[in-house]
Amino acid sequence: MSIIAIGGLFVVLTWLELRRPLRREVEPKPVRVARNFTFAGIAALTVQAVEIPLVRPVAILTASRGWGVTRALPPWLAVAVALLLLDYTLYVWHVLTHRVPWLWRLHVVHHVDRDLDASTALRFHAAELAASVPWRAAQILVIGAAPDVLALWQTCVLGAILFHHANLRLPAALDRALSWVVVTPRMHGIHHSAVREHTDSNWSSGLAIWDRLHGTFRDDVPQEAITIGVPAYSRPADVTLERVLALPFIPQRPSWAERD
Ligand SMILES: [Zn+2]
Repeated sequence: MSIIAIGGLFVVLTWLELRRPLRREVEPKPVRVARNFTFAGIAALTVQAVEIPLVRPVAILTASRGWGVTRALPPWLAVAVALLLLDYTLYVWHVLTHRVPWLWRLHVVHHVDRDLDASTALRFHAAELAASVPWRAAQILVIGAAPDVLALWQTCVLGAILFHHANLRLPAALDRALSWVVVTPRMHGIHHSAVREHTDSNWSSGLAIWDRLHGTFRDDVPQEAITIGVPAYSRPADVTLERVLALPFIPQRPSWAERD
């Protein structure tokens, strides 16, 4: 069911992107989408082979033992607080993927896409997904997220990340109003800017409140002024499928230094 909903959302967003693009794209869309779909396929295999077998038993055990900080709450409140805390700790994880050098080495694969659209939301290196598994297990154990709550949150987050990666020009007032609640395409466009001070903002994935609370929210960069990507990998030859798949495992250039 959730696969059909997520697939449907992707198709709708891609149709809207063609009608109302937010930023001019620099690479041919079919080539990029094919590349990002390859990542999505590898990511799906990684989730099936690594994440589900390790994380689901943790959620089942956590639920059966009554572990986690939400367990003392009434059931409806426990679900709401668990969803909030899962979303907040994903914000923290995203900050870590930028701040911890070996995690950035993996997360950079997501950022070197030279355009940003719904297909970018599916483009995470398998090594980054694998690295996130212990964090996910810790989230579940500490928060006390039951398997159904975890599944609900994962579907919501996937929908949210498809939406905010979309190259979709919402009316500016609507984008601004929505940015009080959820991450919007304009917000996330700033996070994918090739200027480091821009990238170091808008780290939320689901709810936008985490950036608001931490003072990391930015909406002051016009999308026309944004170059998407990472300066060290700004040429088409830098971002071919083979090079980007290999990127975590080869010597990397300093990300924010301009290419000579
Ligand atoms: Zn990021």
